[in-house]
Amino acid sequence: MAPGQICKVIIGAGPSGSIAGALLRNKGYHVTIREHQRFPRFSIGESLLPQCMEFIQQAVMMETGVHGGFEYKDGVSFVYRNRQTEFSFEDKFTAGIGTAFQVQRDGFDNLLASEAVRKSIDIQWQMEVIAVDFTGDKSKLKTRDEAG
Ligand SMILES: Cc1cc2nc3c(=O)[nH]c(=O)nc-3n(C[C@H](O)[C@H](O)[C@H](O)COP(=O)(O)OP(=O)(O)OC[C@H]3O[C@@H](n4cnc5c(N)ncnc54)[C@H](O)[C@@H]3O)c2cc1C
Repeated sequence: MAPGQICKVIIGAGPSGSIAGALLRNKGYHVTIREHQRFPRFSIGESLLPQCMEFIQQAVMMETGVHGGFEYKDGVSFVYRNRQTEFSFEDKFTAGIGTAFQVQRDGFDNLLASEAVRKSIDIQWQMEVIAVDFTGDKSKLKTRDEAG
């Protein structure tokens, strides 16, 4: 890290952590992510919404989804007994991308984290943050590694 460069620490390398890391890195910050687990790991939440795509695009990580070969999802269909209602994401109230990805989270999260590493973000795996102290001049994190 260059002298005087501000270091940002993120807890967790899930989609939020990797994307937030990339956004900060793109602004020139040095970023470290401490992640409790090692990826790929199972996670639930496969059905992305269009706003996710906006964040992925802002973080310049869209290639991750495209190259990951994930299926594009253009809307949803709710079925209840003999009734069916369909919503197209193009019909949403806000401007912007009108599609999303359907992903397997283990692979998707791992790809986003790999992209973060490619952007020179330092991901420290199997490091659990157990305490954060914001009281002094500088924030302090207490972490526990694999060995305890
Ligand atoms: C049943 C269910 C269904 C869902 N379905 C959908 C869906 O269809 N579509 C959708 O968009 N969302 C869905 N979600 C929500 C989705 O799972 C979350 O919004 C998403 O995982 C949040 O991403 P994240 O990066 O914030 O957190 P996570 O993906 O949970 O990542 C957090 C990371 O932080 C790490 N971590 C946590 N604590 C620490 C610590 N103390 N120190 C170090 N590392 C730590 C964890 O190991 C983890 O890897 C669903 C959730 C549930 C429970």
